[in-house]
Amino acid sequence: MSDSRAHLDTLLQHTGTAAFDPETGAAPVSLPSMRTSTVRFQNLEALERAAAAKARGERSVTYGRVGMDTHAALEHVFCALEGGERAFLASSGLGAVTLAMLGVLSAGDHVLAADCVYGPVRNFADTVLTRMNIEVSSVPATVEALERALRPTTRMLYLESPGSLLFQMLDLPALSEFARHHGLIVVADNTWGSGYIYRPLDLGADISVVAGTKYVGGHSDLMLGAVVAKNEALIAKLNRTHYAMGFSISADDAWLALRGVRTLPLRMRQSAENALRVCQFLDARPEVARIYHPAWPQDPGHALWQRDCTGSNGMLAVALKLEDARARRFVNALTLFGIGFSWGGFESLVQLVDQAAIASHSYWSGPETVVRLHIGLESPDDLIADLGRALDAA
Ligand SMILES: *Cc1c(COP(=O)(O)O)cnc(C)c1O
Repeated sequence: MSDSRAHLDTLLQHTGTAAFDPETGAAPVSLPSMRTSTVRFQNLEALERAAAAKARGERSVTYGRVGMDTHAALEHVFCALEGGERAFLASSGLGAVTLAMLGVLSAGDHVLAADCVYGPVRNFADTVLTRMNIEVSSVPATVEALERALRPTTRMLYLESPGSLLFQMLDLPALSEFARHHGLIVVADNTWGSGYIYRPLDLGADISVVAGTKYVGGHSDLMLGAVVAKNEALIAKLNRTHYAMGFSISADDAWLALRGVRTLPLRMRQSAENALRVCQFLDARPEVARIYHPAWPQDPGHALWQRDCTGSNGMLAVALKLEDARARRFVNALTLFGIGFSWGGFESLVQLVDQAAIASHSYWSGPETVVRLHIGLESPDDLIADLGRALDAA
């Protein structure tokens, strides 16, 4: 189905389905996992047609790395979610970030990165990009601060909205306008929105990057990344780099992601509803200094959230007026929240946020201890009871 006027909820059920068998007129509802390393052609002419299409930059299968129908179906889903023309799959969200950067950057280029982006991006810059003479500056995501950090060699503006850890809403349209004025390519990490509740390509970004590991997969059982773009020249660059570097995912992981994404709307809506219930509870507790969740009316990013987002999710952070040892006791006393990284699955998670990690966010004013929660699909009453017990124990 290619009717892009349909609601996303509809597109997510009708994109990437199996075609009817011309002989039997039958098709499975769920597209099977089409595993292959080698692609077999009927004759040399068929292979040459595929090779010619590949040379023109079209999605064309000549070998297993790019994947066949299951991969193509998932790419279509990412395009539907993000409003893009082409999607490129990577074996993790971080892999997708590196693909987006390596796809468009060259030696000598400079990148302006918002200081609220996913931490490992910094590590990629320090470990790999510096060796290629590509420099990344971490800057507060305001037009004024970016203007000051701009260099003649600046080529990319790398953003994430809402930001990692504290969910700082960025004014993506204004920042994209700034970037366009200076000829910069805007890359936005859209893992939080996953294309369903936030669409960077519609708000001015050139490339959207998503960790499918989180809400798209949705069941904490796969690693996946996608890079989505709509501009032809950028697509050509990403396509060449994707191929040259051997980015590839398994058909089974593509299948799991397709299975997961059908229920993305339901899961996200429920997690968002549960998260607001948890915010209400936390707001009334004396231990809580501040709640970070853009859908929460007191969040400073709430107006931007109302303007740019169509929904929310289960992510929130909470600053606690508890010294470190008590905050640790609180986290350890939770029984329904798994202590772990990542998020976007069916289950609730908790993480004590590293002080050094948020210290580099200009949005952070300290000095409280911050705990990040992912609110899953459990009963919110049970989650609230668990949080209450743990706060009392701390
Ligand atoms: C988790 C995450 C990533 C990385 O995804 P992986 O699949 O874990 O590599 C990138 N960006 C954001 C915002 C994330 O939360």
